[in-house]
Amino acid sequence: MSHTRNTGPMRASARCGARTRNGETCRAPALRGKTRCRMHGGTAGSGAPVGNGNAVKHGYFTSEAIDERKFVRAILIQSETFLRELPAGSLTNCNPDVSGTPESAPGTDSPLPRLTNAGK
Ligand SMILES: [Zn+2]
Repeated sequence: MSHTRNTGPMRASARCGARTRNGETCRAPALRGKTRCRMHGGTAGSGAPVGNGNAVKHGYFTSEAIDERKFVRAILIQSETFLRELPAGSLTNCNPDVSGTPESAPGTDSPLPRLTNAGK
C-alpha cells in the first residue's frame, strides 16, 4: 500500500504569520478568510467583545474616531476633486489677496494647495 499523497493544496494554504515565543512566525494554517490560525486569534468570538473599553487609552482607534477620520478624508478628497474640476480662473475672484499678486497670474500655476495624506 503505497500511494503518493497530494499535499499540494494543504501546503499552499495561507499561513498564520503570528510571531511565536521563539521569534519565528507561526506556520499553522490560517483560518478561512482570516490571517491568523485558531490559536492566534482567528477563531470567531476570540478577542475583546465589541465596544469593550478596558484597554482604551486615548480613543484614537475607537470605531467612532476611525469613522470620523474616514469621513474627513472623504470630504477632503471630494472637495479637492470639486475644486480641480472648476473651470480655470473661476477662483481668482474668491480671494482678493491671491488675485492681486503678480506671481499668481491666471493659468500659470494651480491656485490650489495639494491635499495629500503625506505628513500624517
Ligand atoms: Zn498561529
